[in-house]
Amino acid sequence: MIKSGFYYKIIFLLMIICLPFIISSPKIVPVSAAENEENIPITILNYHKIDNMNISLSVLPEDFDRQMAYLKENGYHTINTDQLYNYMVNGEALPENPILITFDDGYEDNYQHAYPILKKYGFTGTIFVITDFVNNNQPNYLTWDQIKEMKSQGMDFQSHTASHKSMTELSMDQLKEELTKSKQALDKELNQDTKFMAYPTGTYNLYIAKIVNEAGYKGAFTIKYGNVDKASNMYALERVPIFHTENTFLSFYERMHYIPVFERLGWYKS
Ligand SMILES: [Zn+2]
Repeated sequence: MIKSGFYYKIIFLLMIICLPFIISSPKIVPVSAAENEENIPITILNYHKIDNMNISLSVLPEDFDRQMAYLKENGYHTINTDQLYNYMVNGEALPENPILITFDDGYEDNYQHAYPILKKYGFTGTIFVITDFVNNNQPNYLTWDQIKEMKSQGMDFQSHTASHKSMTELSMDQLKEELTKSKQALDKELNQDTKFMAYPTGTYNLYIAKIVNEAGYKGAFTIKYGNVDKASNMYALERVPIFHTENTFLSFYERMHYIPVFERLGWYKS
């Protein structure tokens, strides 16, 4: 969503003024200084397109590059969904300053623009693909060849259902079909046990989460704003959406650093 530069300046000023309160608050645990190894808050970034379209879902390649450079310079280490699962369920260790970079929908520009930039910084990411779109070789979506090439280089692929229908509008049978068909396609094509899915448009409820579990998934990602930690619901994992704005880097920076404040204010700004 495009906001005015003036609006951003006000927000930024407010953030600076509030900084002493933010720092002194016991609830705040900066992601980059997670001292408590027992329950590290993990930021899960959520992107869609990385290309030059002037829409909020399209982050420009040069902006994406700048964001990845920032993460590299500040000592972040990318993790995949298996590492997240093993940390949350089995208590396995994570690298210092862990971050999970996710992309929804499986656009071809993820291969053309995001993948080379991630590689340049030694990073990996997780792409949630709409499996029917891959099968039908829909234009602007990834092909299995591109997916397999990226997977061989450490990229991670999970489900965004078979056809991206809003799950709250589906019958139980349709829900099962969307989830099972997608998992089977990914399992077969990539020779993996697909553990995660991302809810199309982020819509879900407890009933849908139960069907996701029954379809064999171990967890699901929402677009609910926030960090994930061991207390998070595995079927309602929070993410931090990153959009193209008038000042994309500033909004990225704010979202990276003020998550707990935004969470507390119930201000999601998406
Ligand atoms: Zn989507």
